[in-house]
Amino acid sequence: MSNKTSTHNPFTGESIKTYNLHTDVQVESMLQLANDVSKTWRQKPIKERSKLLNKVAKILSDNLETYSELMTAEMGKPIAQSRSEIEKCIFLCDFYRKNADSFLADQIIETDAKESFISYDPLGTILAVMPWNYPFWQVMRFAIPTLTAGNTALLKHASNVTGCALIIEELFEKAGYPKGCFQTLLVNHDQVEQILSDDRVKAVSLTGSEKAGRKIAEIAGRNLKKAVLELGGNNACVVLGDANLEAYLDIMVNARMQNTGQSCIAAKRFIVEASIYDEFLEKFTKKVKSLKHGDPTDDQTDFSVLARADLADILEDQVERSLKKGAKVHFGNERKKAYYQPTIITNVTPNMPIFDEETFGPVAAIIKVKDKAEAYEMVANTRFGLGTMIFTEDFEDATAHVSEIEDGAFFINELVKSDPRLPFGGTKASGYGRELSEEGIMEFVNKKTVYIN
Ligand code: NDP
Repeated sequence: MSNKTSTHNPFTGESIKTYNLHTDVQVESMLQLANDVSKTWRQKPIKERSKLLNKVAKILSDNLETYSELMTAEMGKPIAQSRSEIEKCIFLCDFYRKNADSFLADQIIETDAKESFISYDPLGTILAVMPWNYPFWQVMRFAIPTLTAGNTALLKHASNVTGCALIIEELFEKAGYPKGCFQTLLVNHDQVEQILSDDRVKAVSLTGSEKAGRKIAEIAGRNLKKAVLELGGNNACVVLGDANLEAYLDIMVNARMQNTGQSCIAAKRFIVEASIYDEFLEKFTKKVKSLKHGDPTDDQTDFSVLARADLADILEDQVERSLKKGAKVHFGNERKKAYYQPTIITNVTPNMPIFDEETFGPVAAIIKVKDKAEAYEMVANTRFGLGTMIFTEDFEDATAHVSEIEDGAFFINELVKSDPRLPFGGTKASGYGRELSEEGIMEFVNKKTVYIN
């Protein structure tokens, strides 16, 4: 196995940088440092820990352009979307700076005791295994609540965004976190297994594919460690006959095409009621055709290349297999290296790969249904459970369906999106546990019962 890892610009095809992986000896000293610093970091008052979030936000803001350019170079995200990602991280810092204190305050519970309460204590060192699709956001939404709760963090980022991984480590040091509070590991999969099996690591958070999730959950389970898993999704976007296309069409297109289609919560299956089908398809296609694609460093670019050429291979194969089963290319489907044209596929039915599997790229699968009842049947027909979105003017009827949606989120007239104020996570093959909000900061704490007689 190679002891090096390299990054490449998926748009230009140029190689960016080669890094040496950390040796086992280096990993050992990083683990020890994380463990040592955890003993003092956890003793600091919450207010002192959350005060540092001001500095993190300031550094993010001062370096917005540099960080955005790095993301765009390493994984091809259109630059305007890279900037928005950094801005969202700033909002996240602000949210936990204002709220962590109250989330983590002791909770008094009346019992027979003189006094009894729950104390929210950190667990220790937490491992994060993170993906490349939102190189800053995915890491920050784990790290900000986890560190603020008094834990230390070890990051194993996706190998194609190693530059981002290292600059995030530097960011925490610059912000004044004690050395070792947040460390980036440059390691291979076997080393991840050793690290997660080490007693000094208390839990793991993974965002990524179902396959990686199953592997990490298995290692965590074997070692009796808590895991939070945010895996793939196959979100339905339901367009009912009374949907207001004029108001929401842009949102629907964005729900699939944002981040060049590489989002776990993207709309992957468009389930459209027959009465609005033709009008929807015409307008949706027109909008998709108008998207500006090209150089991700151009401010005007709506979408660009996928993060790696092998991701386009996977997508092409999913589409090919679906076409063999009777799906039709309505628009697009041109592919060159890491570039995949925004594509609309119609005649999609269950048991086709683009209905059943997660498609991680700009391919919209369109499913025509006769009525609302069939639409809800289609929504539920998936192994995944991240989120469902529905477009309708009948809010009362849509809200009446909340309890029948098995997913982690249900959005009416809006695309499924993460928001620091709301919990985020899935059910079924999309994983378990929650990130963000009060729920997220509670994932890596020991909810300790204290009883005074
Ligand atoms: P992976 O799930 O393989 O990668 C995500 C992270 O997990 C990376 O840091 C990766 O490291 C790490 N990882 C993967 N397998 C292991 C393992 N056995 N042990 C330790 N760490 C591991 O995603 P891919 O980049 O290969 O993308 C494949 C598909 O996954 C996509 O097409 C998409 O469907 C899905 N995906 C979903 C994401 C989401 O947000 N839910 C994000 C990314 C991908 P390394 O880079 O070194 O392999």
